[in-house]
Amino acid sequence: MRMKGISISSCLLGVLMAANAATAQTDAYTVSPAVAETYARLSAMPAVQKGLDFLKADHANTVAEQRQICEIPAPPFKEQVRAADFQKRLAALGLKDVQMDKEGNVFGLMPGSGKGPKLLVAAHIDTVFAAGTDVRVKEKDGKLYAPGIADDARGLAALLAIIRTFNATGIKPAGDIIFCGNVGEEGLGDLRGIKAMFRDHKDIDGFISIDGTEVGKIIAPLRSDLQRTRGP
Ligand SMILES: [Zn+2]
Repeated sequence: MRMKGISISSCLLGVLMAANAATAQTDAYTVSPAVAETYARLSAMPAVQKGLDFLKADHANTVAEQRQICEIPAPPFKEQVRAADFQKRLAALGLKDVQMDKEGNVFGLMPGSGKGPKLLVAAHIDTVFAAGTDVRVKEKDGKLYAPGIADDARGLAALLAIIRTFNATGIKPAGDIIFCGNVGEEGLGDLRGIKAMFRDHKDIDGFISIDGTEVGKIIAPLRSDLQRTRGP
């Protein structure tokens, strides 16, 4: 896998995802001057401001989709029904070449202008819960409760909201973006879905996974780790 560091596309997605976080944290963190400058520049662009406003206005849609997705069971190795549903949602948003691969991942392409790195943005379809688990969403005191409602129904819904934001603002990424619902992430799945994506798409330059309940946190490999993965 080739990694070219932080790209404009990934930084823009960072801006959008941070805004999409349901309960964003404000813990201080340090990024390189180049990333901070790019983030500030993107955040100030009128089109990006429009996108951030769109995300707020789209909140109810995002939560509605989160609930719908959560209520489609997706036990380990039995993600097919939720994957087929997610494939339809990707296609409805106008992505190109929407498809399901042999592993069961569903994905589509948002073409860039041809001048940037290719980015994979994914959220995982599978849950850790066994077949037969009651996945109906219950609401209490303004909070939603259900197995997998956060991890990773929220990630899947956020991914769809980000595509809608690109569509609403007309922002065109520099590089192609593959938006993917991947299977086999949790437990015995052992990342089989994402491994298949990197096996089958050798031209991916960067990867963002939208996952987890700590929505204010970004986990990124250190540059030294990336160099180690390149081998001797
Ligand atoms: Zn997860």
